[in-house]
Amino acid sequence: MLHKLCLEIPSRRVGSAGNRAATDFFARSVASFGFQTESQRFDCIDWTSEGARLAVDGDLFRAFVGPYSLGGQVRAPLVVASTLQELEATEAEGKIILLCGDLAKEQLMPKNFPFYNPDEHKRIISLLETKQPAAIVAATTRDPGMAGALYPFPLIEDGDFDVPSVYMTDVEGSRLAQHAGEEVSLDIRAERHPSWGCNVVARKGGDRSRRLVCFAHIDAKLGTPGAIDNGTGIVLLLLLAELLVDYGGDLGVEIVALNGEDYYSAPGEQLWVSQNAGRFGEIVLGINMDGAGYREGNTAFSLYDCPPDIDSAIREAFCARKDMVEGEAWYQSDHSLFIQNQRPALAITSDRFDALWTEIAHTAKDRPEIVDPAKLVDIALALRHLLLHLDRLPV
Ligand SMILES: [Zn+2]
Repeated sequence: MLHKLCLEIPSRRVGSAGNRAATDFFARSVASFGFQTESQRFDCIDWTSEGARLAVDGDLFRAFVGPYSLGGQVRAPLVVASTLQELEATEAEGKIILLCGDLAKEQLMPKNFPFYNPDEHKRIISLLETKQPAAIVAATTRDPGMAGALYPFPLIEDGDFDVPSVYMTDVEGSRLAQHAGEEVSLDIRAERHPSWGCNVVARKGGDRSRRLVCFAHIDAKLGTPGAIDNGTGIVLLLLLAELLVDYGGDLGVEIVALNGEDYYSAPGEQLWVSQNAGRFGEIVLGINMDGAGYREGNTAFSLYDCPPDIDSAIREAFCARKDMVEGEAWYQSDHSLFIQNQRPALAITSDRFDALWTEIAHTAKDRPEIVDPAKLVDIALALRHLLLHLDRLPV
């Protein structure tokens, strides 16, 4: 299954044919275990790129196209800004602006990302939009928190932002900065294409006004097979569905392949939230799986706002199993949708999270070989145990 999702399907980025092949495969598989399925469709853009060329007077600089950037050819003088104050003071209209240092220390949240967006990021983006540079060059290092293991990381990854951008290493950026004031020529070969994708929601069990909801995001970042992030989450949903083939309890079970956790505007997440407006109270517990099954270390579970009966049901299901530990709270995945809507949540990942994030996540190294399938089976068994326990709790 992981092989199919990560290798036979070359990419699961939102809007791609591979992404739709993955949601089709998921819908067919989960239906074969007796679940009713619904596809929740949304419009989005897909994006293709053939690289960028950046030169000053014949001297080439190694630059990567910012994901979802518009393409185009520009020849303009270079200006440089490394702090917010410098950016505010820079006359950038029609020029190529190099952002480095403090300004480029962390990935900027996309303009229309609905769940989290710091004021400083909004300020930088709005300054860039009002100053109207012809193009942006970002010189970056690493940002494990937002960009996983990428070096350099793209400062801007936003299909709603219309200034073309490239990014390069801080080292290459310092070399380029020496040419401030000179003419730079930049050719970005990239295109946005209108496309679509969907969530797949699968349901079973009796009472829809009392639901257990299980999430995993099915999309993967551009340029990664996405085995741990998050092919394993989808395999876990399917293993759980298979273990529930004969389930006929009162508690409603909703298994959701969300589509967009690693995409700039989180379209599947926004759609699922809007379709559940006013019905969050029905959710007894929300479970999210992301980054589970890494062959090193243990499975880590973490609890958010769980009432005592659910808290103890989770501990009973998980603590008895080997290789499972309670991990630190984290918020960078879809369980935040439950937390933001005041529902109890359980998140499942791997405890060697730091190693995963700083070395593997969002890169070509995230392949099926780094997954331990036995850990996935254990998690699925623990989840079934938990679900059957919750089904027996008095309402
Ligand atoms: Zn993920």
